[in-house]
Amino acid sequence: MAYSYDDTNIFARILRGEIPNKTVLETAHTLAFHDINPSAPVHVLVIPKGAYVSFDHFCSAASDAELVDFHRAAAKVCAQMGVSLEAGDGFRAITNAGQHGLQEVPHYHLHIVGGRPMGRMIAKD
Ligand code: 5GP
Repeated sequence: MAYSYDDTNIFARILRGEIPNKTVLETAHTLAFHDINPSAPVHVLVIPKGAYVSFDHFCSAASDAELVDFHRAAAKVCAQMGVSLEAGDGFRAITNAGQHGLQEVPHYHLHIVGGRPMGRMIAKD
């Protein structure tokens, strides 16, 4: 089944400038901004500017330039927010995909969360 991107999703609207965001960093192919409902003292969303639904869509279909830009930007976000291993005590990078991953917004995004111990990774039930 082909990936189907819905350009009415909230992050597409943020990228079009229709909805404000608290930008942490912007590059040629990537935007990072604070989550509106943070789960930790640091909670930043890193998104590609391209129309990708999920991690697997992005990793399989994005150009090398987009892939490199995205990951370098994510590393800069960690440093800028003081949670990188060079600058701080670490973080968790999470991406949810689809129904089983409980993805709410169907535009690929990486959650960078930290600023406190993050607890167990996955509930067992
Ligand atoms: P998901 O469940 O898809 O992995 O995560 C979606 C995230 O987007 C949630 O953490 C939610 O708080 C965040 N979010 C939803 N709408 C907005 C918005 O309009 N602005 C920002 N900055 N974050 C949003």
